[in-house]
Amino acid sequence: MILVFVEHRDGQPDVASLQTLSFARTLAAQTGDSIEAVAFGPDSLADILRDYGVSRYHSITDDQLTAYACEAWAVSLQQLTDLLRPKVLLAPGSVKGNEVMAYVGALSSLCVVTNVCQVSAGNEWRITRSSWGGGLFENVLIEQDLALLTLATNTVEASENAVDSCDTLPFTPALQTKHFRAQIKSVESSVDEGMSLKTAPIVIGGGRGVGSGEGFAVLEELGEILQAAVGGSRVTTNNGWRAHKQQIGLTGNHISPKLYIACGISGAIQHMAGCKNSETILVINTDENAPILSHADYGVIGDLHEIVPAIIEELKKS
Ligand SMILES: Cc1cc2nc3c(=O)[nH]c(=O)nc-3n(C[C@H](O)[C@H](O)[C@H](O)COP(=O)(O)OP(=O)(O)OC[C@H]3O[C@@H](n4cnc5c(N)ncnc54)[C@H](O)[C@@H]3O)c2cc1C
Repeated sequence: MILVFVEHRDGQPDVASLQTLSFARTLAAQTGDSIEAVAFGPDSLADILRDYGVSRYHSITDDQLTAYACEAWAVSLQQLTDLLRPKVLLAPGSVKGNEVMAYVGALSSLCVVTNVCQVSAGNEWRITRSSWGGGLFENVLIEQDLALLTLATNTVEASENAVDSCDTLPFTPALQTKHFRAQIKSVESSVDEGMSLKTAPIVIGGGRGVGSGEGFAVLEELGEILQAAVGGSRVTTNNGWRAHKQQIGLTGNHISPKLYIACGISGAIQHMAGCKNSETILVINTDENAPILSHADYGVIGDLHEIVPAIIEELKKS
């Protein structure tokens, strides 16, 4: 059996978890296993999990565990895996997913393979994991009864493939006060400033070439017309031209829009790590040798402060 750890917000699994369930199905097709899921969440999750191929949902509903507590969550997962003895415990490669799985590995004295993008199951597990923001692929061979894996985000698309039913089975872990040494006490939501970079179908990115925070006004205007989200490279967030949460790249948002319009961005590997899953990339850059052009579907060589207003003008005519 393959056990998937699912993260959710208010009973709605996040995209990375849905991708993880879709990846688990590909794995299950190789091994002939069923897919079960575990979440620190409500029974109602079962309806959604069923649509993603989960036949049994282990629901941990202890109030103490609603807020993220890494060690307590890891101990809970370890106790459940001891009980169920799955072949694989698979988690999304999110901050929480990676952290919890590192603890599970330490508690079980097993190795954890993070950032997985491909698995061949057989007598031993042959795993490919992505490093350096997708610039390097490592082949890993593990020989242990339980494979502890986290999936690199955006490795697969989240797709439904419903099974007939998903049974909900409550699980109550045995926890001690010491397992709650670190726990989230409160969450402050940021003010919603437009569309989410992660889900917007069109994203406009600005880099050093934008020149200043005020320089982004023209990208914002284009964003409004195209109903696109606007983000920036790390240079722009470091300079305070954009908020940090609007950074695109390895240490920022990983985006996968239908169209990414990159303006005044050179295409450093760390930036590309966050936008390489865009369906189409349009680059506007003054330098015809900018590395980002080798990833572009379309390139316009020129000053973004001339090109973007010209695009806006044309769009306003239509
Ligand atoms: C550990 C680590 C993590 C990192 N994480 C990230 C990350 O998450 N995201 C990220 O973006 N970077 C990240 N970086 C930084 C990254 O290495 C680059 O420094 C950064 O992406 C460069 O940003 P840029 O393309 O805006 O600037 P530059 O590399 O300076 O490129 C500016 C580009 O703008 C063009 N240009 C200039 N003027 C104009 C104009 N008027 N019109 C059109 N084009 C113009 C230039 O030709 C050039 O190609 C990280 C670095 C490290 C070490």
